[in-house]
Amino acid sequence: MAQEGGCFCDKIRISYTGEPGTHVLCHCLDCRKISGSSYGNNIVVPENNFKLLQGTGIGSSQCKPKTISKTADGGNEITSHFCGDCGTTLMRTGPSFPGSVIIKVGVMDDPDWPNKNTPKGELYVGSRLAISAKQSIYPLFFVFVLGTLSP
Ligand SMILES: [Zn+2]
Ligand SMILES: [Zn+2]
Repeated sequence: MAQEGGCFCDKIRISYTGEPGTHVLCHCLDCRKISGSSYGNNIVVPENNFKLLQGTGIGSSQCKPKTISKTADGGNEITSHFCGDCGTTLMRTGPSFPGSVIIKVGVMDDPDWPNKNTPKGELYVGSRLAISAKQSIYPLFFVFVLGTLSP
């Protein structure tokens, strides 16, 4: 069954099928900026399982995700795909995650999605805020060394 999501104004709609390849919280400063929050919650989905349902730039609505690219700490370019109308970042792509799409968990439709899908680990734990540490109750806890995996 496909899991669906959308941006704040819902003009951009996405879905994925199957199990995500990876699901991690990320405490890097880029994820904070992108989410406007204290950390990012990201799932990495094979691009073949990912679909842009609405906002393809085809048809009556010319709406499609805008992009902004940046060189991450690891040296690879990472591109954010966001709604030009409401500003929500829905996903990110880049050579650090070949053949995959990183979906920002907050855009999923099911408000209980984050409770049903426990993250498998955390990235950039060195940047984790003290207030976030209290929420780290995940049984599986992989620590990635800063810089080995780009956000
Ligand atoms: Zn939008
Ligand atoms: Zn990050």
